[in-house]
Amino acid sequence: MFYHHDDMSEHDTLRRFIFEELPVQGRHVHLDATWRAALERQDYPAPVRALLGETMAAAALLSATLKFEGNITLQIQGAGPVHLLVVQCTSGLKLRGLARWNGEVGAADFRGLVGDGRLTMTIEQNGKAERYQSIVPLEGDSLSASLESYFERSEQLATRLWLTAGDGSASGLLLQVMPDRKADADAWQHVTVLSDTLKQSELTGLSAQELLRRLYNEDDVRLFEGAPVAFRCQCSRDRIEDTLRSLGHAEVDSILREQGRVDVDCEFCGKRYSLDAVDIESLFSGGLHVSANSIKH
Ligand SMILES: [Zn+2]
Repeated sequence: MFYHHDDMSEHDTLRRFIFEELPVQGRHVHLDATWRAALERQDYPAPVRALLGETMAAAALLSATLKFEGNITLQIQGAGPVHLLVVQCTSGLKLRGLARWNGEVGAADFRGLVGDGRLTMTIEQNGKAERYQSIVPLEGDSLSASLESYFERSEQLATRLWLTAGDGSASGLLLQVMPDRKADADAWQHVTVLSDTLKQSELTGLSAQELLRRLYNEDDVRLFEGAPVAFRCQCSRDRIEDTLRSLGHAEVDSILREQGRVDVDCEFCGKRYSLDAVDIESLFSGGLHVSANSIKH
């Protein structure tokens, strides 16, 4: 069967749903322009494009579960051709991401792409210095399997994900046990067995409403209004200046002498930050002031 959704309101949208009679909630996401914007920065091989799309869909689904303003970063580091993949999503559903790969990337599956490695999930809350980070080995033969094993190992709420990317859009479905309701293993089994019948073409092509009807037509499901998802980088001149300060005055001065100015291109969005000699001087005069004070103490 061929599914096609023309409803523009479903593009780049995340929607939450709950089962009225069961302690289970879910989220559904379609990424269209959001995913394609991330692909503009690099000429990614097709399998890398798809993996980046799936990871972006996963990050959007997971960050939508945050109970505070902040962001989630998913980072995959592996021994395969794709040695690094980073996706960040804010609680306001602003996404950015990139992947790095070596050599030829064939039509490889997940493990063929990333090899043995690890998945790091970092959760940051706005305005708080401490961050929560957990690292799990890449497991199973898909990104969703690796993420699910993270939830199992960290004794978080039972969570399942279905992810797919291709033909210009990336999509995902997440199911999670309700945090404040009595656990119900039968209910969880019931909804996950139904969800496992989902075909990739359905996940890509159906609207949230059609998909819920297709999967859970016997259950009473309430679908909430959609929230827009967008590609937006969190880079800023302040962050670039922090990075340059951490390189040290001597190092930055040597770049300045070589090139007359210091240009830094954001790896995520391609935006260029350009600093001249005066900018660099004021950058480090602030830094020197701080270190002079710290010597006094
Ligand atoms: Zn940027």
